[in-house]
Amino acid sequence: MMNQPLEIIPTSIKLSADGGVTIQWTDLHMATYPYAYLRRHCPCAMCRDNPPVVKTSPDPFPILGKNPNPIKTTGATPVGRYAIQFQWNDGHSEGIYSYAYLREICPCADCQKSNSTG
Ligand SMILES: [Zn+2]
Ligand SMILES: [Zn+2]
Repeated sequence: MMNQPLEIIPTSIKLSADGGVTIQWTDLHMATYPYAYLRRHCPCAMCRDNPPVVKTSPDPFPILGKNPNPIKTTGATPVGRYAIQFQWNDGHSEGIYSYAYLREICPCADCQKSNSTG
């Protein structure tokens, strides 16, 4: 086998208590993805068709049976060697975020600048 170019994959994924998901990459890039941002970018077919309404602060008038809490990642499961699946406190867990996709939606100022199409 020939030498492969450096694979851009996370070296560490940390869920913080209130901020978001901090991902560090093999090329030393690092960024924190706010929970609401990640949830809104859920790549599953359901969310692409019906973008989720994401709460970022507690609901002052919770409707019975609805989650009154702001959106939060409750768990993260690696999917093979190419993706990660997040579980959310709204019960959703269908979205499989490929590493390439996560890197594409990196919310840091540098990436947003080089990514200014939308
Ligand atoms: Zn989804
Ligand atoms: Zn970035």
